[in-house]
Amino acid sequence: MANNDIETVVVGGGAAGIAAARRLCQANVRCLIVEARSRLGGRAWSVADPSGSALDLGCGWLHSADRNPWVAIAQEQRRTIDKTPPPWNQRSPAYGFPESEQREFLEAREQFFSRVSEQAQKEPDLPAAALFAPGCRWNSLIDAVGTYISGTELERVSARDFDNYDDTGVNWRVVEGYGATIATCGANLPVMLDCAVLRIDHGGNRLKIETTQGTIVADQAIVTLPSAIIAETEALFAPTLPEKTRAAQALPLGLTDKLFLSLEGAEEFAKDSRLFGATDRTATAAYHLRPFGRPQIEVFFGGQLAAELEMDSERAFFDFAVSELTGLLGSAFANRVRPIQIHRWGADPFSRGSYSYALPGMSDCRTTLAAPVDGRLFFAGEACSPRDFSTAHGGWITGVAAANQVIAARKHAQSQKTA
Ligand SMILES: Cc1cc2nc3c(=O)[nH]c(=O)nc-3n(C[C@H](O)[C@H](O)[C@H](O)COP(=O)(O)OP(=O)(O)OC[C@H]3O[C@@H](n4cnc5c(N)ncnc54)[C@H](O)[C@@H]3O)c2cc1C
Repeated sequence: MANNDIETVVVGGGAAGIAAARRLCQANVRCLIVEARSRLGGRAWSVADPSGSALDLGCGWLHSADRNPWVAIAQEQRRTIDKTPPPWNQRSPAYGFPESEQREFLEAREQFFSRVSEQAQKEPDLPAAALFAPGCRWNSLIDAVGTYISGTELERVSARDFDNYDDTGVNWRVVEGYGATIATCGANLPVMLDCAVLRIDHGGNRLKIETTQGTIVADQAIVTLPSAIIAETEALFAPTLPEKTRAAQALPLGLTDKLFLSLEGAEEFAKDSRLFGATDRTATAAYHLRPFGRPQIEVFFGGQLAAELEMDSERAFFDFAVSELTGLLGSAFANRVRPIQIHRWGADPFSRGSYSYALPGMSDCRTTLAAPVDGRLFFAGEACSPRDFSTAHGGWITGVAAANQVIAARKHAQSQKTA
């Protein structure tokens, strides 16, 4: 397709951009995904481990799977859906965490979530951490779980936004990879890879999308960039759009990184079980043992801990995990684990974090970020979703919504012309 034939440019080829372009193509809108990376998928990314199994370095769980549109896409692609309940809904092995304490923790966590829900209805909005029970022994561990959910400590997270997240409690996985499913969904769409958008000039009659491979002229654009990139790139729009910059700054990307380890003698542990490295501090990792029954451990690092380890090195993640695991399981355990793969999402220039949270008082910024400008700049991406933010299905839902807005705007413009 020649660049001057394009009606709508989709900026970014992650879950939202792929969903948007797919919908536009269905409606016969001539569109083009412009993607900075040399692959589609963005924060959805599956790689193969040495045995050929898919490791999801980004999204892995089909959250709210009973209403998650990616389930149907995975089924269309004849993928294998694994419905084993997630480890966070099961009792952990007792290492360093006796069953009686686990019960206490789960009760404290539920009470915390209830207080957050209650507070969410009231003014003013508060940091979620303000809802910790004073002096409760489990606050640090609840905060650690917060760093896996939001990618940051709960002191920084809006209680209202945290409560707005809509989770049906059904969590499945794609054996061949969630990232692979999303990238495959985009495989037949018109795409320019290795093509970073530098500026979107919306001052003239048509949009000029300036990229590292030249300028593309179009009628509309759907911007699906991660909120951190919009927040940090004020000159992305010409003229600038200060309300978008401010909204994106209120929706920072939290940080969660996953390290995959190989595990010798894996049968000692139950499939899909979980350990916490420690129960008395926030800076601890969560260890998903034998994901899909594989001889591996999928380690989650969140918030400040992940940020500090990223500043150090990939090796630092492994050393931290080994120190926690040997603390729980004995020093000989160090010989049973080897690093397979990690990706540092904070250092990744095209994501600059893992998923969005809202600062206290700022949950409405999701709607501000999603609002169209002048009937020709449209916005999508997980951060735009008021209830499914931080997820790949949030990306899909906002992408389709933005594409539908484009289709309606084009129809409207057409009817004005013919009137
Ligand atoms: C470690 C980790 C674990 C996660 N776990 C889950 C999970 O279990 N379940 C779940 O649902 N979600 C999970 N997520 C979140 C999920 O991956 C994201 O919410 C979702 O993939 C975001 O999709 P998106 O399209 O909004 O953004 P992105 O995927 O970030 O897409 C934006 C695209 O824009 C591109 N881009 C950036 N800059 C430019 C530029 N200048 N020009 C052109 N293109 C550009 C990027 O390369 C990217 O492809 C996880 C994320 C991480 C990092």
